[in-house]
Amino acid sequence: MVDPTLWQTLATRSLQTAGHGITRDDARQVLDAPDDELLALLDAAFRVRREHHGRRVRLHVLENAKSGACPEDCRFCSQSSSYETPAGEYPIETVEQLVEGARRAKAAHAWKYCMVTATRGPSRRDLDVICEAAKRIKSELDLTLCASLGLLTPDKAARLKEAGIDRFNHNLETSERFFPEVATTHTWQDRVATVKIAKAAGLEACCGGIVGMGEQQDDVIDLALALRELAVESVPVNFLDPRPGTPMAERARMTPSECLKVLAMFRFVHPRADLRVAGGREVNLRWMQPLALYVVNSIFTSGYLTTPGATPSADHQMIRDLGFEVEEVPSPAPWREGAVAAKAGACGQDQPGLHADR
Ligand code: SF4
Repeated sequence: MVDPTLWQTLATRSLQTAGHGITRDDARQVLDAPDDELLALLDAAFRVRREHHGRRVRLHVLENAKSGACPEDCRFCSQSSSYETPAGEYPIETVEQLVEGARRAKAAHAWKYCMVTATRGPSRRDLDVICEAAKRIKSELDLTLCASLGLLTPDKAARLKEAGIDRFNHNLETSERFFPEVATTHTWQDRVATVKIAKAAGLEACCGGIVGMGEQQDDVIDLALALRELAVESVPVNFLDPRPGTPMAERARMTPSECLKVLAMFRFVHPRADLRVAGGREVNLRWMQPLALYVVNSIFTSGYLTTPGATPSADHQMIRDLGFEVEEVPSPAPWREGAVAAKAGACGQDQPGLHADR
């Protein structure tokens, strides 16, 4: 029998300590919560979510900027050249294609647009394309930008920051202990090093992992605590969607209630983070997806890198039905205010509405 005040006690401690007061034992109790306790647990996690994110939901849109033929051997990934999978293969998209993807994201009311390449790390040419696209997007659209390009060096991180990239995504994937079961061509510490490099360059760190790969409960807790240690700003929590042809193709899916408990644990440990239910949302949470929004404050919309997901209109409907609201970058975004004012001044008008009847 669980103490009925336990979840609210954890919520209070999470809020008072920015998550640092949540212990390994606390995290374990959340993951072990009986299903009868699920609504009470979600209610407590919602209190933490509401304190820092209100009822706002951020939509993130992924752009698979370079697909397949990756030399790394991540065992969950259909883009690794180590496995025979149906995932598509193409070189890096053009700047125009990437800008067009950002326009689609903006039309879907996204808060962030994330350009992703399947690679160990960005080549000079890939970096040139991503940076040029970032500059174009930032000058045209009120949209924050993320890049996920593999392992970084300090000079590459500095170029991304200078081009207008706000965040760099690089997931730890799992605990250091379990990582060798997930990939062998690079180490967990390689990943930690890239997160630190990104942060040192002034980029926000988007860093999470995948749950459901055969790890132990303690591995999931280790991941959450390691991310707290790294002070990452954004935490995407993926639930394995087993991909045909990969070594994890036969893994069983998680249950919706297991997923919700994992998300609640991450919320208590990371009360302020941009916490996202990421890949695998639709297939693992199924009809219980809306409940996740009482815990997390962001989702991906328009699908994932190699798999389809919910459409923006379905996600907008879910958000409205919950009485939540989509959070967008204010317009004009702070970085475009100067550009917009200069453009308006150039034709002698400073009120956009005055052009409407021309
Ligand atoms: S580095 Fe990224 S794209 Fe390459 S195999 Fe691993 S997860 Fe897939």
